[in-house]
Amino acid sequence: MLIRPPSGKKVLWQEMPRHELLAALDARPVVIVPVGSVEQHGPHCPPDVDISIPYHLAIRAAAAVEAFPVIVAPPISLGFTHYNMGEVGTITLRLETFIAVLCDVARSIWANGFRRIILLNGHGGNEAPTWVASVKLTEEDIWALALTYWTMATDELRAWSEADGGSIGHGGEWETSLQLYLRPELVDMTRAVQDEWRQKFSPAVQRYTRFPERRREMAHGVMGDPFAASAAKGERLFAVLLERLVALCHEYHAEAPPRYREFGSHCP
Ligand SMILES: [Zn+2]
Repeated sequence: MLIRPPSGKKVLWQEMPRHELLAALDARPVVIVPVGSVEQHGPHCPPDVDISIPYHLAIRAAAAVEAFPVIVAPPISLGFTHYNMGEVGTITLRLETFIAVLCDVARSIWANGFRRIILLNGHGGNEAPTWVASVKLTEEDIWALALTYWTMATDELRAWSEADGGSIGHGGEWETSLQLYLRPELVDMTRAVQDEWRQKFSPAVQRYTRFPERRREMAHGVMGDPFAASAAKGERLFAVLLERLVALCHEYHAEAPPRYREFGSHCP
């Protein structure tokens, strides 16, 4: 999957020759690394849903920002999704491998001189490991923001959900809506099903704890209601997410990353 902005603006790291990357370095650029997963998403959606959404967001944000360069790094398409193994189409990395890949990619970008890095995640199983990677990197004074896209619009998801109660789900109301907006040719709604979505603990208790996932128990691997999905809902959500990602890029451009302060370096 290779995505470019419809405008033709060059934003992909791997398509920028050295003089363009060097010129970008002089303008406090932001680098977005799309992070996702390849795993079954029910009978109606393709397995790359979770990388396609942050990838599209990154490309559109990079196209939208004119004041400084926003560069999209090669997407990290494989993630941590052991609990979807057993559902055909799933490819997972081990936890340690996934965190190591994120750290090595961020280290490399940092070593190239880029100081503003966003790890933009689109897969639930990656959420905690992506945060761990960003924390681990700080031990080396390397700073990368960890961000899972739907957390940019939790209030809207809750307010706008007709079926899934504000959850991003899995091939349900919102992921299917985003796919119908972004890639309708890859969605086959004639095959859509709604599985029983069983969760342990009540919604009230789930707000503060839950088990980590080990094995999906849905009959067709769907969490949420794809029949509540529409391209219009996907477009509406995408617009909010894009606006907030662009706002983050502007603030990140203006900010400097934190610095480790060595004793003695500020002594008079
Ligand atoms: Zn998903």
